[in-house]
Amino acid sequence: MESVASIIDGKKISDEIRDEIRQRVEGLQSKTGVTPGLAVVLVGENEASQIYVRNKGKACENVGIQSFQHTLPEDTPQEVLAHLVAQLNQDPNVHGILVQLPLPKALASFDVVAAITPEKDVDGFHPVNVGNLVTGREGFRSCTPFGIMKMLEYIKFELKGKDAVIIGRSNIVGKPMGMMLLEKNATVTYCHSKTHDLAKKIKAADLVVAAVGVPELVKGEWIKEGAVVIDVGMNRDTAGKLVGDVEFGAASSRAAYITPVPGGVGPMTITMLLYNTVRSAYRFAGQPF
Ligand code: NAD
Repeated sequence: MESVASIIDGKKISDEIRDEIRQRVEGLQSKTGVTPGLAVVLVGENEASQIYVRNKGKACENVGIQSFQHTLPEDTPQEVLAHLVAQLNQDPNVHGILVQLPLPKALASFDVVAAITPEKDVDGFHPVNVGNLVTGREGFRSCTPFGIMKMLEYIKFELKGKDAVIIGRSNIVGKPMGMMLLEKNATVTYCHSKTHDLAKKIKAADLVVAAVGVPELVKGEWIKEGAVVIDVGMNRDTAGKLVGDVEFGAASSRAAYITPVPGGVGPMTITMLLYNTVRSAYRFAGQPF
């Protein structure tokens, strides 16, 4: 009989971590009177971004974090956005600042992210936090790979000495993912759009993290028996159904563990944003986390 992979239920793990976060929020409030606050800045009318921002607001409410939403028009000048970020940097009720990306083309995203104080950069995109990750120091970790690390911890996957293949080298997922796996002593291979013989590399991997954005690019038959498969991709197929970067059915018959899409990595990303925000509030309040 064909073996079938265990599903890594991102929703369930996420719910458990959110319960913990809720308790930490209450703990901080009762000790210090401080309520953690997350400011979310949305520029323009990108439909996906509007949904993400709304979901982040709801998730904050759900765990008792105060959410401050700032919506600016598409033609917002760079200086106006910079001024808002500067204000939020100073605001004692705000412990986390998130500027929803992508920004309209006329705005310099790097400069905007770099203007956020690293102490409130709960997305972990600021160059200081990226540098802290690379050099193995404390700092905010990028939420998607951070959530994936929590999932791997949850299934007690021992990374030491394992061969990990990451497909995708974006600044928000692929690159920081590799650094986090390296920190846990995995041997990391980065694959990307110029990689030769992707199949061969994936066939040798104990862990596959697919963060590409191409529906079912990773074929089930490429998965090594017993591997762990993490699918970050969120794509619409021709029928409008949400699908990942991995051929889920075929991969499930070979992998030991696999994340579904939806219900895998997605919920974990927002959860780690909440986690980073609460951790930041503890730090600002001088409380051990
Ligand atoms: P991106 O578009 O910035 O980068 C994609 C990467 O894939 C690039 O590094 C590119 O080199 C690589 N690539 C493209 N085509 C390839 C190919 N044929 N073979 C091998 N590599 C190839 O992507 P991103 O922002 O990292 O997002 C990747 C996917 O993950 C998207 O579907 C996105 O929606 C999803 N995503 C999900 C979450 C979540 O929380 N679930 C978070 C972030 C991104």
